[in-house]
Amino acid sequence: MALRKLVAGNWKMHGRASSLAVVETLVDKHLNPACDVLVCPPATLIGRLSGRGVPVGGQDCHWETLGAHTGDIAAEMLADAGAEAVILGHSERRADHGETDEIVAMKTAAAWRAGLRAIVCVGETEAERDAGQTLACIAAQLAGSVPEEATGDNLVIAYEPVWAIGTGRTPTLAQIAEVHAFIRESLETRFGHGIAHAIRLLYGGSVKPGNAAEIFEVKNVDGALVGGASLKAEDFGAIIAAA
Ligand code: PEP
Repeated sequence: MALRKLVAGNWKMHGRASSLAVVETLVDKHLNPACDVLVCPPATLIGRLSGRGVPVGGQDCHWETLGAHTGDIAAEMLADAGAEAVILGHSERRADHGETDEIVAMKTAAAWRAGLRAIVCVGETEAERDAGQTLACIAAQLAGSVPEEATGDNLVIAYEPVWAIGTGRTPTLAQIAEVHAFIRESLETRFGHGIAHAIRLLYGGSVKPGNAAEIFEVKNVDGALVGGASLKAEDFGAIIAAA
Protein backbone atom coordinates (compact mmCIF):
# COMPACT_ATOMS: atom_id res chain seq x y z
CA MET A 1 0.00 0.00 0.00
CA ALA A 2 1.36 3.42 -0.95
CA LEU A 3 2.23 5.62 1.98
CA ARG A 4 0.89 9.14 2.21
CA LYS A 5 3.58 11.39 0.79
CA LEU A 6 5.47 13.89 2.93
CA VAL A 7 7.01 17.05 1.51
CA ALA A 8 9.33 18.62 4.07
CA GLY A 9 11.08 21.96 3.66
CA ASN A 10 14.50 22.54 5.18
CA TRP A 11 15.09 26.27 5.43
CA LYS A 12 18.64 25.77 6.77
CA MET A 13 20.08 29.08 8.08
CA HIS A 14 17.58 31.17 6.13
CA GLY A 15 14.51 32.92 7.40
CA ARG A 16 13.58 36.02 9.31
CA ALA A 17 10.27 37.22 10.70
CA SER A 18 9.42 38.33 7.16
CA SER A 19 9.55 34.67 6.08
CA LEU A 20 6.31 34.00 7.95
CA ALA A 21 4.66 35.19 4.75
CA VAL A 22 5.94 32.07 2.97
CA VAL A 23 3.91 29.89 5.30
CA GLU A 24 0.87 32.18 5.03
CA THR A 25 1.00 31.85 1.23
CA LEU A 26 1.43 28.09 1.50
CA VAL A 27 -1.63 27.80 3.70
CA ASP A 28 -3.67 30.17 1.52
CA LYS A 29 -2.81 28.68 -1.86
CA HIS A 30 -0.56 25.67 -1.93
CA LEU A 31 -1.56 22.89 0.44
CA ASN A 32 -2.51 19.56 -1.08
CA PRO A 33 -4.97 17.36 0.82
CA ALA A 34 -3.25 14.31 -0.68
CA CYS A 35 0.08 14.87 1.08
CA ASP A 36 1.61 15.91 4.39
CA VAL A 37 3.71 19.05 4.54
CA LEU A 38 6.34 20.04 7.09
CA VAL A 39 8.36 23.23 7.34
CA CYS A 40 11.67 23.15 9.23
CA PRO A 41 12.72 26.76 9.81
CA PRO A 42 15.60 27.96 11.98
CA ALA A 43 14.84 27.36 15.67
CA THR A 44 14.16 31.10 16.14
CA LEU A 45 11.03 30.80 14.01
CA ILE A 46 9.56 27.53 15.28
CA GLY A 47 7.40 29.17 17.93
CA ARG A 48 6.24 31.86 15.51
CA LEU A 49 5.29 29.38 12.80
CA SER A 50 3.62 26.74 14.92
CA GLY A 51 -0.15 26.78 14.91
CA ARG A 52 -0.32 28.58 11.55
CA GLY A 53 -1.67 25.66 9.57
CA VAL A 54 1.51 23.81 8.62
CA PRO A 55 3.35 21.39 10.93
CA VAL A 56 6.77 22.66 11.95
CA GLY A 57 10.03 20.84 12.65
CA GLY A 58 13.54 21.56 13.87
CA GLN A 59 16.80 21.07 11.97
CA ASP A 60 18.85 19.52 14.78
CA CYS A 61 18.71 18.78 18.49
CA HIS A 62 21.09 17.84 21.29
CA TRP A 63 21.00 14.31 22.69
CA GLU A 64 20.53 15.50 26.27
CA THR A 65 17.42 16.98 27.83
CA LEU A 66 19.16 19.96 29.43
CA GLY A 67 22.56 21.02 30.67
CA ALA A 68 25.64 23.11 30.05
CA HIS A 69 25.63 23.03 26.24
CA THR A 70 25.87 26.63 25.11
CA GLY A 71 24.17 27.24 21.80
CA ASP A 72 22.51 23.84 21.62
CA ILE A 73 18.84 23.05 21.72
CA ALA A 74 17.14 20.05 23.34
CA ALA A 75 14.49 17.99 21.57
CA GLU A 76 12.16 18.83 24.44
CA MET A 77 12.68 22.55 23.70
CA LEU A 78 11.75 22.03 20.05
CA ALA A 79 8.61 20.21 21.15
CA ASP A 80 7.87 22.93 23.69
CA ALA A 81 8.10 25.54 20.91
CA GLY A 82 5.60 23.60 18.81
CA ALA A 83 7.78 21.34 16.65
CA GLU A 84 6.46 17.91 15.68
CA ALA A 85 9.59 16.61 13.98
CA VAL A 86 13.30 17.20 13.65
CA ILE A 87 15.81 16.67 10.83
CA LEU A 88 18.85 14.77 12.11
CA GLY A 89 22.17 13.82 10.55
CA HIS A 90 21.87 16.22 7.62
CA SER A 91 25.09 16.08 5.62
CA GLU A 92 25.77 19.74 6.44
CA ARG A 93 25.69 18.87 10.16
CA ARG A 94 27.81 15.77 9.59
CA ALA A 95 30.37 17.89 7.65
CA ASP A 96 30.26 21.18 9.60
CA HIS A 97 29.92 19.74 13.10
CA GLY A 98 31.58 16.35 12.81
CA GLU A 99 28.38 14.47 13.57
CA THR A 100 29.01 10.74 13.49
CA ASP A 101 26.43 8.01 13.07
CA GLU A 102 26.67 7.38 16.81
CA ILE A 103 25.83 11.00 17.58
CA VAL A 104 22.94 10.95 15.11
CA ALA A 105 21.59 7.81 16.82
CA MET A 106 21.76 9.52 20.22
CA LYS A 107 19.96 12.56 18.82
CA THR A 108 17.33 10.32 17.23
CA ALA A 109 16.70 8.64 20.57
CA ALA A 110 16.41 12.10 22.15
CA ALA A 111 13.89 13.18 19.53
CA TRP A 112 11.77 10.10 20.25
CA ARG A 113 11.97 10.73 23.99
CA ALA A 114 10.52 14.19 23.32
CA GLY A 115 7.77 12.79 21.12
CA LEU A 116 9.24 14.17 17.89
CA ARG A 117 9.36 12.31 14.58
CA ALA A 118 12.99 12.01 13.47
CA ILE A 119 13.89 12.60 9.83
CA VAL A 120 17.26 10.86 9.63
CA CYS A 121 19.38 11.81 6.62
CA VAL A 122 21.75 9.46 4.84
CA GLY A 123 23.65 9.90 1.60
CA GLU A 124 26.92 9.28 -0.16
CA THR A 125 29.53 11.80 -1.24
CA GLU A 126 30.49 12.05 -4.89
CA ALA A 127 33.78 10.27 -4.15
CA GLU A 128 31.90 7.39 -2.51
CA ARG A 129 29.58 7.09 -5.52
CA ASP A 130 32.50 7.18 -7.95
CA ALA A 131 34.22 4.45 -5.93
CA GLY A 132 31.13 2.22 -6.12
CA GLN A 133 30.60 2.62 -2.37
CA THR A 134 27.10 4.16 -2.41
CA LEU A 135 25.17 1.23 -0.97
CA ALA A 136 27.90 0.39 1.54
CA CYS A 137 27.85 3.98 2.75
CA ILE A 138 24.06 3.99 3.07
CA ALA A 139 24.12 0.64 4.89
CA ALA A 140 26.64 1.90 7.42
CA GLN A 141 24.79 5.18 8.02
CA LEU A 142 21.46 3.40 8.45
CA ALA A 143 22.88 0.80 10.81
CA GLY A 144 24.71 3.40 12.87
CA SER A 145 22.21 6.28 12.92
CA VAL A 146 18.89 4.53 13.53
CA PRO A 147 18.16 3.11 17.00
CA GLU A 148 16.24 -0.11 17.54
CA GLU A 149 12.90 1.45 18.49
CA ALA A 150 12.05 2.69 14.99
CA THR A 151 8.43 2.69 13.85
CA GLY A 152 6.49 4.15 10.95
CA ASP A 153 5.30 6.94 13.23
CA ASN A 154 8.58 8.02 14.77
CA LEU A 155 10.98 7.70 11.82
CA VAL A 156 11.37 9.07 8.31
CA ILE A 157 14.53 8.37 6.30
CA ALA A 158 15.76 10.99 3.84
CA TYR A 159 18.12 9.80 1.12
CA GLU A 160 20.18 12.84 0.22
CA PRO A 161 23.23 12.30 -1.99
CA VAL A 162 25.68 14.91 -0.71
CA TRP A 163 26.70 15.86 -4.26
CA ALA A 164 23.08 16.66 -5.17
CA ILE A 165 22.38 19.05 -2.29
CA GLY A 166 22.18 22.64 -3.45
CA THR A 167 24.00 21.86 -6.70
CA GLY A 168 21.17 21.55 -9.21
CA ARG A 169 22.40 18.03 -9.96
CA THR A 170 20.25 14.99 -9.27
CA PRO A 171 20.82 11.26 -9.58
CA THR A 172 19.05 9.47 -12.41
CA LEU A 173 15.64 8.06 -11.55
CA ALA A 174 17.20 4.58 -11.73
CA GLN A 175 19.84 5.59 -9.18
CA ILE A 176 17.18 6.98 -6.85
CA ALA A 177 15.14 3.79 -7.28
CA GLU A 178 18.16 1.61 -6.53
CA VAL A 179 19.03 3.39 -3.28
CA HIS A 180 15.42 3.63 -2.08
CA ALA A 181 14.87 -0.08 -2.74
CA PHE A 182 18.08 -0.80 -0.84
CA ILE A 183 16.96 1.32 2.13
CA ARG A 184 13.56 -0.44 2.20
CA GLU A 185 15.23 -3.86 2.11
CA SER A 186 17.67 -2.88 4.85
CA LEU A 187 14.83 -1.68 7.06
CA GLU A 188 12.91 -4.88 6.32
CA THR A 189 15.86 -7.03 7.35
CA ARG A 190 16.28 -5.13 10.58
CA PHE A 191 12.74 -4.21 11.63
CA GLY A 192 10.51 -6.61 9.71
CA HIS A 193 8.12 -6.07 6.83
CA GLY A 194 5.40 -4.14 8.69
CA ILE A 195 7.63 -1.45 10.15
CA ALA A 196 9.85 -1.19 7.07
CA HIS A 197 6.86 -0.54 4.85
CA ALA A 198 5.40 2.05 7.24
CA ILE A 199 8.55 4.22 7.35
CA ARG A 200 8.48 6.97 4.74
CA LEU A 201 11.55 7.32 2.54
CA LEU A 202 12.14 10.83 1.20
CA TYR A 203 14.44 11.80 -1.62
CA GLY A 204 16.37 15.06 -1.11
CA GLY A 205 18.84 16.95 -3.29
CA SER A 206 17.94 19.68 -5.79
CA VAL A 207 14.23 18.81 -5.90
CA LYS A 208 12.52 21.53 -7.93
CA PRO A 209 9.09 22.10 -9.47
CA GLY A 210 10.47 20.77 -12.76
CA ASN A 211 11.65 17.38 -11.47
CA ALA A 212 9.39 16.68 -8.49
CA ALA A 213 6.65 14.79 -10.34
CA GLU A 214 9.00 12.26 -11.93
CA ILE A 215 10.86 11.73 -8.65
CA PHE A 216 7.57 11.13 -6.81
CA GLU A 217 6.74 8.41 -9.35
CA VAL A 218 9.82 6.39 -8.40
CA LYS A 219 9.04 3.23 -6.42
CA ASN A 220 9.74 3.58 -2.68
CA VAL A 221 9.89 7.39 -2.86
CA ASP A 222 7.37 8.59 -0.28
CA GLY A 223 8.07 12.28 -0.55
CA ALA A 224 10.88 14.83 -0.62
CA LEU A 225 13.15 16.82 1.63
CA VAL A 226 13.49 20.17 -0.07
CA GLY A 227 16.12 22.80 0.69
CA GLY A 228 16.44 25.84 -1.58
CA ALA A 229 13.08 25.46 -3.29
CA SER A 230 11.25 25.43 0.06
CA LEU A 231 12.10 29.09 0.63
CA LYS A 232 9.75 30.27 -2.10
CA ALA A 233 6.06 29.55 -1.60
CA GLU A 234 5.46 29.24 -5.36
CA ASP A 235 8.23 26.66 -5.85
CA PHE A 236 7.50 24.72 -2.67
CA GLY A 237 3.80 24.87 -3.56
CA ALA A 238 4.48 23.41 -7.00
CA ILE A 239 6.42 20.53 -5.42
CA ILE A 240 3.60 19.94 -2.93
CA ALA A 241 1.11 19.93 -5.81
CA ALA A 242 3.16 17.27 -7.60
CA ALA A 243 3.04 14.89 -4.61
C1 PEP B 1 18.65 19.79 1.82
O1 PEP B 1 19.40 20.60 2.29
O2 PEP B 1 18.13 18.95 2.56
C2 PEP B 1 18.39 19.83 0.39
C3 PEP B 1 17.83 18.80 -0.17
O3 PEP B 1 18.76 20.97 -0.27
P1 PEP B 1 18.43 21.37 -1.79
O4 PEP B 1 17.00 21.00 -2.06
O5 PEP B 1 18.67 22.85 -1.85
O6 PEP B 1 19.36 20.59 -2.65
